[in-house]
Amino acid sequence: MTMKSPLEFFRTLPKKTCPECGEQVEEQAESYFMECERCLAKKGE
Ligand SMILES: [Zn+2]
Repeated sequence: MTMKSPLEFFRTLPKKTCPECGEQVEEQAESYFMECERCLAKKGE
């Protein structure tokens, strides 16, 4: 058994995907949105 460091734990988390288009979304600390930037921009209009 090996202890995984917290950093490694987060690295193994599955990538977030945009529910709108299925695009992989880069995790952003400041952002709570699920959608990718493109879909967010669309919604903002
Ligand atoms: Zn999207």
